[in-house]
Amino acid sequence: MSVIKKVRRKFSGFEISTKITLGYAACFIALLVLINAAMWGGVMNALYRPAENAILYSMSQIENVLKELEENYEEFNPAAFRGALVTGVVLRVVDEKGIVFIDTDKKYPSIERFNENILSNPPIFARSDFEIARIGSALIYCAKMNYTHEGTSVTLCFFRTVTSEMKFFDTLEKSLVALDILAIIVALLVGRYLSRRILSPIKTMNELAREIAFEKMGGRIPVGTANDELSELAKTLNKMLDRLQGGINKQQKFVSDASHELRTPAAVIKGYIEFIEHYGTEDKELLEENLKMIGSEAQNMQALLENLLFISRTDQNRQRLNKKDLDLDDIVGDVMQKMKIAVKTHKVELTSNAPAKIFGDETTIRQMIRIFLDNAVKYTPQGGSISVGSKIEGDKILLSISDSGIGIAPENLNKIFDRFFRVSAEQLVSEANGSGLGLSIAKWIADEHGIKISVASELGKGTTFTLTIPLKN
Ligand code: ADP
Repeated sequence: MSVIKKVRRKFSGFEISTKITLGYAACFIALLVLINAAMWGGVMNALYRPAENAILYSMSQIENVLKELEENYEEFNPAAFRGALVTGVVLRVVDEKGIVFIDTDKKYPSIERFNENILSNPPIFARSDFEIARIGSALIYCAKMNYTHEGTSVTLCFFRTVTSEMKFFDTLEKSLVALDILAIIVALLVGRYLSRRILSPIKTMNELAREIAFEKMGGRIPVGTANDELSELAKTLNKMLDRLQGGINKQQKFVSDASHELRTPAAVIKGYIEFIEHYGTEDKELLEENLKMIGSEAQNMQALLENLLFISRTDQNRQRLNKKDLDLDDIVGDVMQKMKIAVKTHKVELTSNAPAKIFGDETTIRQMIRIFLDNAVKYTPQGGSISVGSKIEGDKILLSISDSGIGIAPENLNKIFDRFFRVSAEQLVSEANGSGLGLSIAKWIADEHGIKISVASELGKGTTFTLTIPLKN
């Protein structure tokens, strides 16, 4: 495995705060190195370059003096050598035998001593044509120039001490290293502190999320006062938990309501069977009556189970709709015809049936109309009337189902579409039985088809449900 892979593997095992700290420290160190390198080069240039220039300038001045000497030897003044040198630069002229015959500073270390101490590895910043020697704590630059006149060769040695520059630079270097180490330690500590502080809400979120369980959905993640990404995340997670809790509560209520509804017909059937077991089958009339009651309860149970299955399919998005172009008038006409044949206890009439093309699923559209009609019969005392009519209004068709029944109290109007909602038994017509699921199913079908349902009702007078159905253009 390559080193990079190994490092990456090791790195991925760290906490986010450690990763941020290390990443941040690495950037910081890289930046520091860059700044230091630039500073190091800059300061070096500013310190050593003037010393070198002093030597170079002195050399060019001495070259001029030598030219003057060649032109007019008689009038030459030896003091001109000293005057051509920049302050700090020492000149020594030595012949082929090594005898010094011009020396501008007698106290300066001898050429032999200089040559013995020449650095074999001169600093990288030094010019390659200069020699550098370290004598004790002093650092000395030397540039040499050869001069030949009338067959005699001499060497001119130009010296310049750069000890103070070197000392300043050494101190600066040491201070920089110390400061860098300090800055890196501070950066690591501050980075660790800040990243931990910033990420601490995630830790809290994690701990809380671990505590939240199916049976214990009440807990919520604390939302910080700051308006940052983490409090946004906490809000989003809390909203998600609200939705989940809402869904779970609804599901639990559904299961308990459904079991409750199923218990009644099951208990009734059991009662009739016990009755038959107790009284025997001798009395044919009693037996038939009991069997009829058992059959009717079984039918109720079947209807309830079908409704429950429908709702469970809608909850899981499994209820399929096969939408196509439909003639609503045909469907209404057909449903009403069957209704008239089946219901002899009420006056059932179709006042108007406007021809209308709609786009929808025929089975569920029929089911929805049947729910309103069945309710109209259920909640209208015998002899009452049920009328259905439709009319076109713009790009909609309004289908109304009216009855002259018991009506719905205003306070219940917004509850009747809730699952399992039923008006308390004493207010109902004696034979009316139901489970409180019909209208919630009708509402689901209506919503899936973009149909709006409105209710107008008056207690004791009757109810009108109006369906506003979009027409197929
Ligand atoms: P179910 O009829 O099985 O009880 P629904 O969901 O169909 O359930 O109806 C919910 C409630 O709305 C009924 O229990 C009844 O109180 C009220 N309701 C519905 N339709 C009518 C109506 N036409 N007249 C009076 N009350 C009605």
